[in-house]
Amino acid sequence: MSEFALFNKEFFRALQAGELIGSKCLDCDEVSIPQREICPVCHSHEIEIENFSGKGELVAYTVISVPPVKMAEAGYDSKNPYCVGIVELVEGPRISAQILDVDLAHPELIEIGMDLQMTTIQREEGGLQKSYLAFKPA
Ligand SMILES: [Zn+2]
Repeated sequence: MSEFALFNKEFFRALQAGELIGSKCLDCDEVSIPQREICPVCHSHEIEIENFSGKGELVAYTVISVPPVKMAEAGYDSKNPYCVGIVELVEGPRISAQILDVDLAHPELIEIGMDLQMTTIQREEGGLQKSYLAFKPA
C-alpha cells in the first residue's frame, strides 16, 4: 500500500494550489507531514494546520527503472526511469516524493544535500487531473 494513503483530501487540495501542508502541535511545536490528529511526540490534541515553505534538501534517493503499475501507466519504464527521493524539509519533517530535473543518465551525480524546492506533477488518472508532490533543484 502506498504511503500516500496516509495523506488526506486537504493535503491534495492544498497541493492542487501549489501548497504543502502538514500539522503543528500547539503544545510542543512538533511539525508533522502528513498531518496528524494527535501529536506523535506529546500526544496533544491541540493541533493546527501548518503551511510548509516547500524548501528542503535531498537526504536519499533511488532511480527506478522497473516501476509499479501506476507509474508504468504514467509512461515510466527502463528507457524512461524516474527518481524518488527522501526530502528533509527546512521545517524538519521528511517526505518522499519524485525528484525532477536531475540527470537520470548519471544518477551518481545526484547530490545528497542539494537544495530542493517543491513543485507538482499533473497527471491524469481515471479521467481526473491530479496533482502529485515532486521536488526539483532550487
Ligand atoms: Zn506535541
